Amino acid sequence: MKRRTLLGAISSAGLSWQSIAASSSTTPSVAPHRGQRVLVIGAGWAGLSAARSLRQIAPELDLTLIDRDPQLRSLPLSNPWLVGRTPERLARVDLTTLAIGLGYRFVRAEVQSIDRTLRQVHTTQGRFDYDWLLLAAGVDYDYKALLGDDERAIAQMRTHFPAGFMASELDLLKHKLENFGGGELVMTIPAPPLRCPPAPYERAMLIGWLLKSRRIPGRLTVLDATAGPPRFTRLIAERYANQIVYRPHTSGLQIDPFARKLSTDDGEMRFDHAIFLPPMRANTLVEQTGLLGLNAQGQSTHWAGVDPLRLVSLQDARVYLAGDLLDAVSPLFGYYPKTAHMATRLGVAVAQQIAASSRGVAPAPLALPESVCHVWLDAEPAEQLRIEATYRLRGDGVITQALRQIDNPQPRDEDVHWARSLYAQSLGVPL
Ligand SMILES: Cc1cc2nc3c(=O)[nH]c(=O)nc-3n(C[C@H](O)[C@H](O)[C@H](O)COP(=O)(O)OP(=O)(O)OC[C@H]3O[C@@H](n4cnc5c(N)ncnc54)[C@H](O)[C@@H]3O)c2cc1C
Repeated sequence: MKRRTLLGAISSAGLSWQSIAASSSTTPSVAPHRGQRVLVIGAGWAGLSAARSLRQIAPELDLTLIDRDPQLRSLPLSNPWLVGRTPERLARVDLTTLAIGLGYRFVRAEVQSIDRTLRQVHTTQGRFDYDWLLLAAGVDYDYKALLGDDERAIAQMRTHFPAGFMASELDLLKHKLENFGGGELVMTIPAPPLRCPPAPYERAMLIGWLLKSRRIPGRLTVLDATAGPPRFTRLIAERYANQIVYRPHTSGLQIDPFARKLSTDDGEMRFDHAIFLPPMRANTLVEQTGLLGLNAQGQSTHWAGVDPLRLVSLQDARVYLAGDLLDAVSPLFGYYPKTAHMATRLGVAVAQQIAASSRGVAPAPLALPESVCHVWLDAEPAEQLRIEATYRLRGDGVITQALRQIDNPQPRDEDVHWARSLYAQSLGVPL
C-alpha cells in the first residue's frame, strides 16, 4: 500500500497508529528497488531518521533496516512515566508498519557479526549483503567495568537490577519501582559519556518524589562517580533531603548483587533494591567489527571512530555511523550529546552522505546537528528545563559548541510537543 493511501486509510477509518500496527501483516510489501544496497543496523532514532531521509532523497537505493526489536519505544519522556507521574505519552511504533508506510524493508533480527571484507552482515534471519552500511546500533553497558569477568554476577545484575537506559528494560524497571515498598534503594551514576546526561539526575529526583508523595518508608542513595549538575544536586538537597542521600565523587565501588551488599571508599552498605547504571560504550558490534576510535595516545576508545564532517568510519569508507555510538567529534567539547534529538539530526546528515557516495558524487558539506532536551527539575508542581546545544564549524575545521539552558517553571507539555514533532518530522510516524 502506498504511504498516502495507508495514511488516508488510517484517518478515514478513525484508527490509531497502534491499532493499525497491531493488525498489520509482518511481511513487508515493499516494491523492490534496483539500486545499490544500503543496510541500516538499528531502528532507533538515528537509524529510523536516516532510513526515512534516504527513502526521500535517494529512492533508487535498495534500503533495508534491521533491528532485534519489533517496535520503537521511546526513552525520552520515560522517567516521569516510570514513577507514575505521567502516563506513557509517546506511542509505541510498530516498525514493520512504519517501514511499509515509508517504503523501505524492515527485518526483525539480531545482528550477530559483520564481515567488512565481504560486505556481509550475519543475522538470526540469515545473511545480508550491502554496498553501504549504516551502523546506528546505539550503546551497550560496560558491565565488566563494574563486575569484571564474573558472568554470573553480570546476569544477576541485568535481571534483578536493570539500569533502564535501554528501551527494552523499561517495563521491568517500572515493575520493580512499583513494588518497592520501602528500605534502601541504591542508584549508581557512572562517569560520562552517558546517553542523555541529565537523565540519571532527573530520574533520581522523580524517585525522591515517588517516595515522598506515596509516603514510602524508603531512602534513595545516589552514588555518583562525578559531581552532578548543580541545578539538580541543589534541588535534591533542598526538596528531597529526607528521601535522597546524594554522594558525589564515589570511588572504589564494588558490588555483590547476590548478597545485596556494596562497598565504596567511604564504607559498606546493604540495599534492598538498586538501579545499577554501568559505564557506557558503543554497541558491542563496533568493537567486534574493528571500528573503535583511537585517543591521542593511540589507544582504543570505547566509541566508534568517525570523521565528524562526513560521518564515515575512520577504518572503512563503506561504513557510515550515526547516533549515540559516535566517538568524540571535537577537541573542544569531545562528544556530541548522546540524545534522541541529536540522533535524528545525524540520521538526516548521514543519509545525505550515503546518497552522494552511492552516486559517486561529492557530498554537500555536512549540516551540523543540534540537540534539544527537556528535563524535569521537579515533579509537583512540575518544573522543567530545556537544554539546547548548537554547533558551528570554525575556520580551522574544528566544531564548536554553544549550550543554552532555559527554565520552564510552568510547563505546558512542551516536552511532549517536542517529542511528537521529532516522531512525525524525523521518523515519519503518522500522528
Ligand atoms: C531515561 C532516558 C531519557 C532520555 N531522554 C531524552 C530526552 O529527553 N531527549 C533526547 O533527545 N534524548 C533523550 N534520551 C537519549 C535517547 O534515548 C538516545 O540518545 C537515543 O535513543 C539514541 O538513539 P540511537 O538511534 O543512537 O540508539 P537507540 O535508540 O538505542 O537505537 C539503537 C537500536 O539498535 C538496535 N540494536 C542494537 N544492537 C543490535 C543488534 N545486534 N541487532 C539488532 N538490533 C540491534 C536496538 O534494538 C535499538 O533499537 C534519553 C535516554 C534515557 C535513557
